[in-house]
This record gives sequence, C-alpha cells and structure tokens, in this order.
Amino acid sequence: MVNNIPVEKAKTSKIHNVDFDNLAFGTTYTDHMLVSDFNDGEWSAPKIIPYQPVTLEPSSKIFHYGQSIFEGLKAYKDEQGSVWLFRPMENFKRLNKSAKRLAIPELPESHFIDGLTALLRLEQDWVPQNPGSSLYVRPFMFASGTGFHASPADKYKFIIALAPSGAYFSGKVKVLIEEKYSRAANGGVGYAKAGGNYAGQFYPTQLAAEKGYQQVIWTDDNNHEFIEEAGAMNVFVRINDTLITAPTNDRILDGITRKSILDIAKDEGIDTEVRKVSVKEVVDAAKNGSLKEMFGAGTAAVVSPIAAFGYKDVDYELPELGDSYASKLKKRITDIQYNRAEDKFGWRY
Ligand code: PMP
Repeated sequence: MVNNIPVEKAKTSKIHNVDFDNLAFGTTYTDHMLVSDFNDGEWSAPKIIPYQPVTLEPSSKIFHYGQSIFEGLKAYKDEQGSVWLFRPMENFKRLNKSAKRLAIPELPESHFIDGLTALLRLEQDWVPQNPGSSLYVRPFMFASGTGFHASPADKYKFIIALAPSGAYFSGKVKVLIEEKYSRAANGGVGYAKAGGNYAGQFYPTQLAAEKGYQQVIWTDDNNHEFIEEAGAMNVFVRINDTLITAPTNDRILDGITRKSILDIAKDEGIDTEVRKVSVKEVVDAAKNGSLKEMFGAGTAAVVSPIAAFGYKDVDYELPELGDSYASKLKKRITDIQYNRAEDKFGWRY
C-alpha cells in the first residue's frame, strides 16, 4: 500500500537500463502504472500494478467510436530531490471536462490526485534531475466496453503511465499557418483533450513537414482568418511590446501553461491582451517590423520560440532578440516548476 492504494510491485526494475542523460520525449515508461475500471456504474478503487499491455476485445468501443481522452502534466525534481507537480488540479478538472464532452463517466478527484501522488511516491527515482528533464505524466481514459452499436460504452479504463522525458522540441520551431485544414469547429470537441483531435492533425502536419515546417498553426474553421493554436501548444504573439494570445473557446484547448504565462507576464509588468489575432495582423506586423516574437506554450513544449512562419508560400523570419519575453517567461515558469523560486501564485503541489 502507498497512500492507501494497493500496490502490486514489479518483479524487476527497468530503471538501470535507462540513460537519463539522453532522454527522448515520452518513449521510456516506468515500472508501474495506476489503473481504475469503470464497471456497473462506478469507478473501482485505483490500484498500482506493473506497467503492462492492456487486453481488449476487438469489439471494444475505443477502436470504433474513439471514446478516448487524455491529460499531460509533468513531475519535476528540485536540487534537494523533492518532487513537484504544477497545478495538477487543473489537469484533473480538464480531464473531467473532456470526459463529459465524450460521454465518458467523470472520475472522482481522489482517484486522480491521490492515485497520482501514490504512483509518484513509488516511482520517485524515475524523476530525472537533469536540466530540462522531467517525468511526463500521462493520465488517460478510454472505452473498454464492447459493442458495434454507435453509442457510449458501459465500461471504461483509467490509467496513469509515466515517462521520464527530455525536451519536446530541440531548438526553435518553424511553423506553417494553415489555410485549408481545420483542427476543430464550433460546437465540436476542440476544447477537449480527445485522442481524435490529434489524429485529425497528423495528416496536415505531415504535409507541412514535407515543406519543412515542424508544426501547424491552426486557424479558425470559418475563413482561416484568425490564429488559434498549434498542435500541442497555445500560441502567443508579441507585437511591439504587447503580448497577445487568442481567447479560449469551443475550438481551443484551455492550456494550463497559457493561463500561467498570462499571469506571470502581467506580474512582470508586460502589457497583455487576450483577443483574436488575425493572420493579416501578424503578416502585416512581420512586414513592418513590429512583430517581435511568436512562441508556443504547453506542458510538453514549455515555452517554444518560433523562428519563422510560413503563409501563402512566403516565409517570414522572426528577429533574434537578446531579451525576449519567451526566455524571460520560460525562466520564470520553470523556476516555479523546479522549485528554484518563490511560488507566489501557489501553483506547486
Ligand atoms: N493545445 C493543445 C491542442 C494541446 O494538446 C496542449 C497540450 N496539453 C496545449 C494546447 C497546452 O496545454 P497545457 O499548457 O495545459 O499543456
């Protein structure tokens, strides 16, 4: 038992096979995972078991109707060896927001928070201490119940798996502003972390990659007129000295990094605006030199500066700034996450 959660220990640990100095993102998994099953109308008490394959019937509804949602957060180790989470309640709330939209039963708070805490106590040696590394936490839920009828399943599985991880992007990213495809539509599931939202992005992102862009900047589904967000990041634009990001809506994921960056920027005295940003405004600003920075913000990518964006077959380079907002904001948020600075907002857990 850890924190009242039963543990079936793995017979051997894989930790000695891991090169913690050369971690990719999300490709190595720890020895244990947390599981809970939704059966007969309730979520079972969570338990910790060895990391292992999941067995499902071919008729499980996840395979046919895509009832699948996930979350992503990180555990950070400070210099003293203590492990911290960043605003985990926000991930819990968003998981249930996603669950509701996909007609998946909502999870009790203690399953998530106490379950995750117990799992991390058990796996704390897996949290890397190297700069920029962390233990990526992947909670997810899916329809394990069976049937070819297109309706919600009667059984679901909740799992938390952990992956010691290095940086998501290496270096600055080049992005393509999308003119044809859409990630989400009004009234749709864009605000949920539904697996299908990501599946739908892969093809347009592959097309962009063939042209040399690592990410697509999604625009609104009406006329592709306004900047929305990137594949797994919200997007910030700095015009002159004002930092601007789109308001969240039906189509945009309410990123925890995004809202934290907004609070930190205000605290730094940076002029911020939450409003629609048109592609035309960004292109005009790039042309007249008032576009100073663009960056993505998300748990995995942290704060990722954008080196250039493409639009209508033209590439627009962004200037190299000595004292960018991106570097200042990245330092402040990671100093809080890694317990290197005072946590004035009360975000560490
Ligand atoms: N947008 C999308 C589509 C994402 O998948 C993510 C990653 N969760 C984000 C934005 C950033 O959200 P967060 O800061 O909560 O990680």
